[in-house]
Amino acid sequence: MIPYAVEYLRATNVAHALAMLASDSEARLLAGGHSLIPLMKLRLASVSRLIDIGGLPELHGIAVHPDHIAIGAATTHAELGSHPRLAEFLPLIPQAAGVIADPTVRNRGTIGGSLVHADPSADWPAVMLALDARMEITGVAGPRVIPADEFFVGFMSSAVQQDEMLTRIFIPLPGPDRVAYRKFRHPASGYAVAAAAVALRYAGNRCTGGMIGVTGVAETAFRAHTAEAGLASGFTGSAEEIGRLVETAFADVTPLEDGFADGVYRLQLARVMLSRALADAVRHA
Ligand SMILES: Cc1cc2nc3c(=O)[nH]c(=O)nc-3n(C[C@H](O)[C@H](O)[C@H](O)COP(=O)(O)OP(=O)(O)OC[C@H]3O[C@@H](n4cnc5c(N)ncnc54)[C@H](O)[C@@H]3O)c2cc1C
Repeated sequence: MIPYAVEYLRATNVAHALAMLASDSEARLLAGGHSLIPLMKLRLASVSRLIDIGGLPELHGIAVHPDHIAIGAATTHAELGSHPRLAEFLPLIPQAAGVIADPTVRNRGTIGGSLVHADPSADWPAVMLALDARMEITGVAGPRVIPADEFFVGFMSSAVQQDEMLTRIFIPLPGPDRVAYRKFRHPASGYAVAAAAVALRYAGNRCTGGMIGVTGVAETAFRAHTAEAGLASGFTGSAEEIGRLVETAFADVTPLEDGFADGVYRLQLARVMLSRALADAVRHA
């Protein structure tokens, strides 16, 4: 393939990156490059300027505060998978990081790139929905913060506009008491054909509610609200309860279809992944 000419620019800070973005509607941010570069190679993205934000210290790192954890948007999947404080406070994050693709992708790919790219089969969207994350989106006028539930607006489309940047992700503390992530990987790419992230809250030994994020199944990742309603009243994780809850979970979902999984198969995988994630979460006290 003959590559087309692209200008490569390295941002020195967030304000510099935003100013460069604002000056050219075909400019795109480059973080780990593991989604954008493949799209450019296939000529599915037309880009005039690549603005590299991958090395900006402001966008890196994980900060633990009394009531939340803040994750820089350019933090890599590998960094999220190996951070000791995340393992302690939000173990769902290292669990999910460990099943993203392979070590090469995990060492370069970033959580911010993944969330903004909003691939319907990516892992982080389901996890961020289950953890009730807040997204800090920064434009030249300053930052705004929106819930994960409002972030994924359509097929490969997020609430971040062309002249904005996802800068940080905030996750409330204390985190959920019991969590699990179950994913059926596509055998070639490693992306989720169907996956479920479950986050349960307990008062003593009694489940008081929970949140469920699902990815791989529909045009965007989503919260399984109907299933969550079944967690509110002393859910014990019995086979009967899980069966009932999973039966209703995807009633109004239009499944994705592709050469690997038609809609019926994909929904069945989703039911199985959610059942296993619920059972795992209840067990992992
Ligand atoms: C072989 C392979 C297997 C993969 N398997 C999986 C998998 O199993 N699970 C999974 O979840 N993902 C998978 N991925 C995707 C991978 O995780 C990507 O790294 C990730 O989706 C995008 O992150 P990035 O940092 O590489 O983003 P980039 O490719 O640099 O950017 C992606 C998009 O986001 C924009 N962007 C990047 N950062 C920001 C920001 N801070 N603010 C605003 N816009 C921004 C870019 O302009 C671009 O449009 C796979 C990728 C490959 C190549």
